[in-house]
Amino acid sequence: MHHDPSCIFCKIVEGRIPSRKVYEDDEILAFHDIHPWAPVHFLLIPKAHITSMAHVEAAHAPVLGRMMSLVPELARQEGCRPYPEGGFRLVCNTGGDGGQEVPHLHFHVIGGPRPWLKG
Ligand code: 5GP
Ligand code: ZN
Repeated sequence: MHHDPSCIFCKIVEGRIPSRKVYEDDEILAFHDIHPWAPVHFLLIPKAHITSMAHVEAAHAPVLGRMMSLVPELARQEGCRPYPEGGFRLVCNTGGDGGQEVPHLHFHVIGGPRPWLKG
């Protein structure tokens, strides 16, 4: 699996930076955001280094599909309230204009009772 030695999320995947894990399998990792915007805020990443959503190709479709299909269960497990009153926000900042700070593809799953820090 490809890791970028200078990438902080690759370091989290390799256990070189600690994280509070939410979910893990052979291709996917979810962990709590270090600066949460809301009562529930975790990040879902592919373990292989993909720089951003702008770098996604057809070959990534299976892992991205699996990531999306994990969101509802993990959101519930982490405390997002049921749809429709509850729910969550799924965010993928991409590139400079998209507000991406960490260049390893990640989906923010954000939820819980409002108000939230951002939004
Ligand atoms: P972006 O702006 O790239 O979409 O979001 C990056 C997110 O990663 C931010 O919400 C930030 O708090 C989180 N983050 C940055 N460094 C670390 C870290 O070392 N550990 C964890 N758990 N989250 C991090
Ligand atoms: Zn990486």
